Amino acid sequence: MNASLLTVRGLTRRFGGLTAVDNVDLDVRKGEIHGLIGPNGSGKTTCINLLSGVLKSDAGSVTLEGTEIARRPTHVVAAAGLARTFQNIRVFGRMTVLQNVLVGFNQSLGYNLLSVFSLRNGAAERRLHEQGMALLEFVGLADKHDTLATNLSYGEQRLIEIARARALSPRLLLLDEPLVGMNPTEVDRVVDLFQRMRGQGLTMLLVEHKMRVVMSVCDQITVLNFGRKIAGGQPDEIRADPEVIRAYLGE
Ligand code: ADP
Repeated sequence: MNASLLTVRGLTRRFGGLTAVDNVDLDVRKGEIHGLIGPNGSGKTTCINLLSGVLKSDAGSVTLEGTEIARRPTHVVAAAGLARTFQNIRVFGRMTVLQNVLVGFNQSLGYNLLSVFSLRNGAAERRLHEQGMALLEFVGLADKHDTLATNLSYGEQRLIEIARARALSPRLLLLDEPLVGMNPTEVDRVVDLFQRMRGQGLTMLLVEHKMRVVMSVCDQITVLNFGRKIAGGQPDEIRADPEVIRAYLGE
């Protein structure tokens, strides 16, 4: 069994009188795809926002390879090795596909934005360009590198987001409903991409509603209901869990 990469204990977040995330424990092991599932309103997105520093928790600890990241600002969490995608696509529509990915390198290597687009150093520029193109090749968008992001399909824009997050070379990638709005062909393409990323050793935490996908790609699954963890285990165990069926799968 691989070592735990992300260890969450007692994670709690309240909004007024509502406890959106209630004393949640979570262990994501190195190299796995870990699914986080549950009915609407069960606290999945709040969890992702707490882990990535977008929201501050009221209680609990979050360690990434031993580094405490709970209640730290997003840039500190990112520097510790955690990257994420968002439910609502966030690409720069007026920039080309390649430039969108270079923004990821810009964040990870400490280049400032201006230097990425007006590099005077030919060798550094070429290297960045090559790395960006390699990532686009990996996600299947190399032939569109020079197209404005806004002209790509919804599914392709999601691939840009994933490539950009990958450019950060994260230890852990959080994917918040990456398949929303995709057609079946696009879904298959992204599922294949997830499997290849796992093959490269990338660890992922996946929030997703499409159970066919969750059950087929995830190594481990955590189930939330009303902010609480109600089950955790391998897909077969989750599928057979009476409480999970009652709360979610039986819907
Ligand atoms: P999920 O992602 O599983 O659908 P969420 O994490 O979005 O669930 O929401 C969990 C609960 O917290 C819901 O009841 C939701 O209405 C509430 N909630 C989420 N964000 C806020 C907020 N900013 N202010 C108040 N309530 C919120």
